[in-house]
Amino acid sequence: MADVLVVVDHVDGVVRKPTLELLTLARRLGEPVAVHLGPGGGAAARVLGEHGAVRVLVADAPEFAEFLVVPKVDALQAAVEAVGPVAVLVSSSGEGKEVAARLALRLGSGVITDAVDVRPGDGDGGGGGGVVAVQSVFAASFTAVSRVTRGVPVVAVKPNAAPVEVAAAAGVVEELAVEFGESARGTRVVSRTPRASTGRPELTEAAIVVSGGRGVNGAENFAVIEALADALGAAVGASRAAVDAGWYPHANQVGQTGKSVSPQLYIANGISGAIQHRAGMQTSKTIVAVNKDAEAPIFDLVDFGVVGDLFQVVPQLTEEITARKS
Ligand SMILES: Cc1cc2nc3c(=O)[nH]c(=O)nc-3n(C[C@H](O)[C@H](O)[C@H](O)COP(=O)(O)OP(=O)(O)OC[C@H]3O[C@@H](n4cnc5c(N)ncnc54)[C@H](O)[C@@H]3O)c2cc1C
Repeated sequence: MADVLVVVDHVDGVVRKPTLELLTLARRLGEPVAVHLGPGGGAAARVLGEHGAVRVLVADAPEFAEFLVVPKVDALQAAVEAVGPVAVLVSSSGEGKEVAARLALRLGSGVITDAVDVRPGDGDGGGGGGVVAVQSVFAASFTAVSRVTRGVPVVAVKPNAAPVEVAAAAGVVEELAVEFGESARGTRVVSRTPRASTGRPELTEAAIVVSGGRGVNGAENFAVIEALADALGAAVGASRAAVDAGWYPHANQVGQTGKSVSPQLYIANGISGAIQHRAGMQTSKTIVAVNKDAEAPIFDLVDFGVVGDLFQVVPQLTEEITARKS
């Protein structure tokens, strides 16, 4: 069976959820071979094996942390040469997309970013084998089905594109020999500042996102949105109007000029549904909106809509969820 490389996204060996989702997708294409760069490969290998990685290629060197991106590309090129995979899957984060693009250039192949699905390429739209990727484009108004036409396809997949599935595999650890090229030490990381933790999941990875817009009407009122998010174990998002008003941090903005999210459930509160906001959330699996204006455009794309005042609806929802949980 063909091998599929999965680039492991981790923090000191703690594997992030999008990587486990990639392993689910990789199993549709062939046998997953995970590539773990940096510290903690041993601990990560166990988790990766539990989620279907047949082999785990590990490489650790100070270059991965001290310099930006290129050392990882060097290592992944070595991994592709060693394994000869049918595809390379990487998480569609900012770094993931840059790594994907540089790797595809090195391999003389092509890159597909922000994929929401991946499948073997013998079926509809794909033709001729290989790997077919699905993207949701132009504010999710169109679905693009595409494939890389030469070489090893490199596909960056959005978080939440697939479920995390346990699938025991050997997870055999193998050392990956890497030689860094001249450009590997070109951009040095000079400092790191940890972001203050809210205890909530990362916005782009969260399975549930609860967002607030101008209708929240003040920074202090975001407590209502946060309470619902906490009852659901969700991340908090915000429209640009709310962010521009200084009610919530820019890092939480969802949309064209904010973050793109694709959770299982997206709850928009006091958000009108402007095209630029839709661009960042329209691929959510289930969309719920609370808005007091029955004509708000957000209602054109919802699965469930509540016409009402969010200050009445949201606390009741939070209370009900909390009661059912206990
Ligand atoms: C280049 C560009 C990029 C942009 N990028 C983004 C982006 O990334 N993300 C983004 O969000 N926007 C973006 N925008 C802005 C976008 O066009 C809208 O202005 C913005 O999304 C509106 O935010 P909103 O829905 O919160 O506010 P509004 O459009 O003012 O809507 C507020 C809604 O709240 C409802 N409401 C009010 N009070 C209540 C209440 N008590 N209970 C229930 N409902 C209530 C109202 O009925 C209304 O529908 C961008 C714009 C441009 C030009």
